[in-house]
Amino acid sequence: MRYYLFAILVFHYLKVFSQQADPIPPGVQRLLDAYPDHLEAYQDNYIYWKDGSLMQYDDSRFKTEEEAFDSTDLEDHMNALIYPPGLPVDTPGFNCDPGTLRCQEFFMKMYGSTEASARSHLVPVTWLAPKPGQTKRIWVTSINGVNEHLQAVAQELVTHPHLRPYVTDIGGTFNWRPIMGTQRMSPHSFGIAIDLNTRRSEYWKWDYKDNWQLDSVEINLAWRNSLPLEIVEIFERHGFIWGGKWFHYDTMHFEYRPEMLPSQKRRNVGKPTRKPAPGKKRG
Ligand SMILES: [Zn+2]
Repeated sequence: MRYYLFAILVFHYLKVFSQQADPIPPGVQRLLDAYPDHLEAYQDNYIYWKDGSLMQYDDSRFKTEEEAFDSTDLEDHMNALIYPPGLPVDTPGFNCDPGTLRCQEFFMKMYGSTEASARSHLVPVTWLAPKPGQTKRIWVTSINGVNEHLQAVAQELVTHPHLRPYVTDIGGTFNWRPIMGTQRMSPHSFGIAIDLNTRRSEYWKWDYKDNWQLDSVEINLAWRNSLPLEIVEIFERHGFIWGGKWFHYDTMHFEYRPEMLPSQKRRNVGKPTRKPAPGKKRG
């Protein structure tokens, strides 16, 4: 009898244990928190989208650096390099560009997989013009409220007159194009990125313009920045990461990547409400 009870206890222990065997990885939780309009839940290595489709989280493949860039899964996207939020800004480590391993499938599904579909979500944001009191319209996606977050950035920037020269005469926002020298789409393609004043910024390819395609250019790359860090602090607080925190620096560049930043109380943030239904097709 005692053995029988013991067996029952072991059975229940194993049952409870097995139910807890699939915890949500921290990277997944950050995705769920960052994109509540689109993502519903996680189970068995799949992210469940609110439209009912599934996306594999970790493809479990061992990748060279080149392969990781060309076939980034969501797990690489979240874990390859951790973006360092906040100030002060340290000189980035050799070849460290946190946030640049982007899962293209994820962005295309969320923001549009063609120029026409990405463009169809663009809405205007009232931005700062060079002269105080004047404004300019710029266009970003309305998905995930990116326009509202960028509008909130503008409302803060306008209260700091000394920052105006850096954030006016901007380089641009939406532009459906691959990243220079690659097959991968730039985040500008999805209407989630903005380049500030190019004449007040540093970009590694401009500093090494004759030889940036050589592998050896990295040896001589010397990070530099002249953008006031107050601007970085404001953008990050609204969900945008900064290209100035990359070894391959691009100090004019900000992109909406809330999954890389500590979660602020962004709109509609909440836990998944619906249990995933098993057996659906991969999206
Ligand atoms: Zn850019």
